[in-house]
Amino acid sequence: DTTGLEPAQEQLTADGIDVVRLGYADIIGTDRGRDVLVNRFARTVGAGVAFCRSVYGTTPRGGVVDIDGGLSDGLPDIQAFPDLATLQAVPWEPGVAHCIADLYNPDGTPSQESPRYVLRQVCEKYAELGYRPVVGPELEFYLLEESPTSDSGWKRYGEGTGNVYTSGLKGDPQNVLLSALRLLGNYGLEVISANHEFSSGQFEINLWHGEALDAADRAHRFKIAVKELARQQGHLATFMPKPFNDEGGSGYHLHFSIWSEEEQALFDDPDGADGLSDLLRHAVGGILEHAPALAAVSNPTINSYKRFGPDTLAPWLIDWGMDNRSAMVRIPPERGRASRMELRLGDASANSYLAIAGMLAAALLGIQNKTEAPEPLVGYGYDVSRSAKLPQTLGQALDALEADTEFAALLGEPFVKTFLSYKRDEIERFNTWITDWEFHEYTYHI
Ligand code: GLU
Ligand code: MG
Ligand code: MG
Repeated sequence: DTTGLEPAQEQLTADGIDVVRLGYADIIGTDRGRDVLVNRFARTVGAGVAFCRSVYGTTPRGGVVDIDGGLSDGLPDIQAFPDLATLQAVPWEPGVAHCIADLYNPDGTPSQESPRYVLRQVCEKYAELGYRPVVGPELEFYLLEESPTSDSGWKRYGEGTGNVYTSGLKGDPQNVLLSALRLLGNYGLEVISANHEFSSGQFEINLWHGEALDAADRAHRFKIAVKELARQQGHLATFMPKPFNDEGGSGYHLHFSIWSEEEQALFDDPDGADGLSDLLRHAVGGILEHAPALAAVSNPTINSYKRFGPDTLAPWLIDWGMDNRSAMVRIPPERGRASRMELRLGDASANSYLAIAGMLAAALLGIQNKTEAPEPLVGYGYDVSRSAKLPQTLGQALDALEADTEFAALLGEPFVKTFLSYKRDEIERFNTWITDWEFHEYTYHI
């Protein structure tokens, strides 16, 4: 559909934009894209902008993983079409606007492995039932600054004096967070606030809730933006789930509610137990039941499983509780239009589209099957005699995803197959790599 391209080109030119950065999230959530000159925009993107299909199988270091329709089929094209509703000027890169693309096969069919397509499909299932899923993303991340004396070349930003909710120069000595908040506030992300997290150099920025696809687009863009802004200042922003042995990990909490088409908050029920509806309990029931498979997409790296653990504020067990931060699902205390759950499972490495699609899929199964949630946890959430453990490795989560056919079907078989190939390749590469842990453990003592 090329309607709107000519007017968009005119408007961009009038706004002083000369480059459109056409981008999309690949399977790991990396932003891939091409910069398109605006004076060629309508003509260039009208027929789709071609990318090599390796988009779904390219590892962070540039290796190509063979997937269905991948290398063994000669790496055919994928075509990107801009979603013009997402055009947005980039405040720190004058003259550039970002635009999110949808991906198609050369025969015109949607590319079913595309994370944005996966999320669209799950949202469609909600729409069929007259439900509107609403999501509010919260992302944590670390800011690092260059350090010639550390092994990695990086150390945590700040003086080491910042701690959770400290504000001002104590934890943000160069006002990096403050200036990022201001710039991000002008980037259509509906950013609301920024705060220091538990570890020095660790921060969180919250996005306002919105329709699931819009929330995923904004969260995807948010991660790119934070990394770009850090780079501009010679820093490194990382969404790695657990970058340091002795510091907390970075979570990706998702606030989630369901609304009717008539704008009714369906998780609220003043007459229900704890003021919550059966719909909320069934959604929680589904999320608890499918948590091991869901983890594969919301905690998608080998490192993700090192964030889980008792007493971390990250989850460890599959449980839920009322305003309880030690549980995997917390029900915040507000009711009425603010009745919602906070899923604390995911970590910052997750692809926004997939983490949200996974949460929605698990909740939908709970709703459809009327899955009863167990009694909510009261008190300490890390008592292993009370609840089951989350997967302890990426491999276990991938096996759970493969085995959970009901859940996998909602994400789509082609997507799940490609995701599993990609992620199992990651495990294989890790298993053959000598780590510094092995060096320290074995060189001197054996
Ligand atoms: N950093 C914790 C996590 O990994 C969350 C801390 C918080 O509640 O803000 O999930
Ligand atoms: Mg936090
Ligand atoms: Mg939170």
